Amino acid sequence: LVVAPGQMAGNQVDLTPAQQHYLSRVLRLRPGDRFIAMDGHGQWWLVALTENAAQGQVLTTIAVATELPITVTLLIAMPKTGLDDVVRQATELGVSQIVPIHSARTVLNPSPQKIDRWQRIAQEAAEQSERQVVPVITAPLVWSDALQTWNTRQSICYICQARDHHPHLLTCLEEARNQRLGGGGWKDELSATQAPQPSRPILAISLATGPEGGWTESELAVAIDAGYQPVSLGDRILRAVTAPLVGLSLIASVFEA
Ligand code: SAM
Repeated sequence: LVVAPGQMAGNQVDLTPAQQHYLSRVLRLRPGDRFIAMDGHGQWWLVALTENAAQGQVLTTIAVATELPITVTLLIAMPKTGLDDVVRQATELGVSQIVPIHSARTVLNPSPQKIDRWQRIAQEAAEQSERQVVPVITAPLVWSDALQTWNTRQSICYICQARDHHPHLLTCLEEARNQRLGGGGWKDELSATQAPQPSRPILAISLATGPEGGWTESELAVAIDAGYQPVSLGDRILRAVTAPLVGLSLIASVFEA
């Protein structure tokens, strides 16, 4: 259950009507039964349902360590269908943020309600995967605008491109992991960022994947200008909904190792 800061009063959680319904009617919990709540920003609690089933009593905080050791942003040129599943599965794989992209060959123009729906899917998936952080789904951006924010000033950037002979993402990730940033290697770099006053930027990766028709030459060119490295995910052409999940799996496999 994800609770907003306004719902916490000392050691009590004021449950919303929807949460009361979910706990009492859907999960059939009784007063005294325990459930887990999270704030979506790293804090988890074991909570007991109160006598009137309208509140929860915090019993203890829970230490969980389910986050990737780096921040991963997925910039996904919106496929015609299937983005619900990508949001769910990318959340399971540890993504920190998803930026839906309007590219030259995308056709989807999602309503604000659709974006709210993707955010709810991310929340449910984060609960299911016991994530500490609920990924943020941003409003869609056109590719050139997205590059203003997600570029090499704040992350190591990769753009997935089928067919051409680019280095494999796995090779590039291993290079990034082993590269000596400030002389200490990526793990030292990471611990420096966790100091109370980080002296260095957080180690982060941005991964961009194209739509069904692929990126255009000019979209690739502006990305490369912004510091993106084109990478391959292998010799087979993956669907626009498969490529991001393969990319995220590779990132997790390299940085969790
Ligand atoms: N005809 C398109 C092309 O040649 O670019 C195919 C696009 S593919 C269905 C959708 C997106 O998934 C691509 O734009 C790319 O970002 C990613 N993708 C699919 N297979 C890939 C691969 N083997 N290597 C890298 N990226 C891939």
